[in-house]
Amino acid sequence: MKLSDHPTVKAYKEQKSQPITSPAILEAAVLKQMALDAGADDTGLIDLSRDTMAPYRQDLLDVMPDAKSAMVLAVRLNQTPLRSSVHSIADNEFQQAIKNIKGIERQLVTQFKKIGIKACSMSVGFPMEMSRWPQKVWLTCDKVFAIEAGLGQMGYNRLVLHPRYGAAIILGTIILSNDCNQYDRPLAFNPCVECGLCLKVCPTGAVKKTNNFDFTSCYSHNYRERLGGFLNWVEQVVDSKTPAEYRRKVSDSETFSMWQNLSIGAQTRCDRCIAVCPAGDESIGEFIDDRKSYTNQYLKKFKNLPETIYVVKGSDAEQHVLSNFPEKQVKYISNGLRPLSAEMFLGSLAHIFQTNQSEGLNAVYHFSFTGNENLAGTVIIREKTISVQEGLAGKADLHVTADSNTWIKFLAQEKNLVIALATRKIKIKGSPMLLKKFAKCFPS
Ligand code: SF4
Ligand code: SF4
Repeated sequence: MKLSDHPTVKAYKEQKSQPITSPAILEAAVLKQMALDAGADDTGLIDLSRDTMAPYRQDLLDVMPDAKSAMVLAVRLNQTPLRSSVHSIADNEFQQAIKNIKGIERQLVTQFKKIGIKACSMSVGFPMEMSRWPQKVWLTCDKVFAIEAGLGQMGYNRLVLHPRYGAAIILGTIILSNDCNQYDRPLAFNPCVECGLCLKVCPTGAVKKTNNFDFTSCYSHNYRERLGGFLNWVEQVVDSKTPAEYRRKVSDSETFSMWQNLSIGAQTRCDRCIAVCPAGDESIGEFIDDRKSYTNQYLKKFKNLPETIYVVKGSDAEQHVLSNFPEKQVKYISNGLRPLSAEMFLGSLAHIFQTNQSEGLNAVYHFSFTGNENLAGTVIIREKTISVQEGLAGKADLHVTADSNTWIKFLAQEKNLVIALATRKIKIKGSPMLLKKFAKCFPS
């Protein structure tokens, strides 16, 4: 058969004579109404060319090279299940809302195609680009996009607070190949009422009044069954010589919990900072009308709940649980976060720095890496803050020169420091105590 006689080709040629044409510029109001009709609770549009989108643009263009706009969607979560101290009920609500928003995105992309608009739904949460691990595995930064799209502002709890639904939202993004006639801008006010309840309820101390959200403390506990927590569990399985040894490390309940995560999808262990948050029109009344009753009802039950909090030994989180939550018990784990290169090591330090562990340490560290990687960096730890810069700057209190491969293996506990020092794969100039104090700031 000639190609031109093939039924598909013939149908294509017929359809080409009556093409569905989309307008070059899309009507924002029409798109938004479609999103609301599909089940979204709110939506906003962003032009990808704006300056604030520069750090995120390439990941979107890799997915759809002609992407010009992004539609950000919000689906509300019901507060009652989120506020239940029975966490499986909260997890079920998250799972259903995530399923909903994924369905809405898919439905919209299909509808857009029918009217000639090319669109692609981005992943909500998982799946992520795991081949990039431990670097950025997500393609969209939904929180940043939601702020840009005017859907809310960041609260103390590092969640986007919607003016109506507060922290109780799930976010998703669809990218579009056209420009729109109108775009949204960040909200002029922050729905966070600075009540501090998220600081008080957070069992790991990750939420702070400053911008220094302690990512690793939250991640180690809340994501115990995901990502690095899962890596750590696999290593516990591999390291156990007998079933009895495995059971000493991991209780049957934890093994079932891991099975549940693997079977029905990733869940979390905490999310109390969402549960207690009174931000947004829907919750604020209950808080304003009777703060005492609100606090008793939603904060105290979580604070006093006996439960296991997963922490890295020697972390700020460990200190926080032991000092503030007598009803809770800590379980020591590794968070599975380990750099795979010297560059990644330097790049991750500011994110995993444990403020309180650096108490009393004021020092400048120089790192010079050789071998596979040739690079240098300066780390300054001063008054419980850290700064990291490329190259060697200022006068070092301790200078570490290391073969990059050996250094990474040492961090992963695959190489012994004493042997590395003896074989001069790692050299230090300065007091070894400073290296010990440095390590204390980054337990993993
Ligand atoms: S999820 Fe839990 S540990 Fe993480 S910030 Fe919220 S309250 Fe803290
Ligand atoms: S709990 Fe209070 S302080 Fe925390 S984010 Fe919500 S409104 Fe802001």
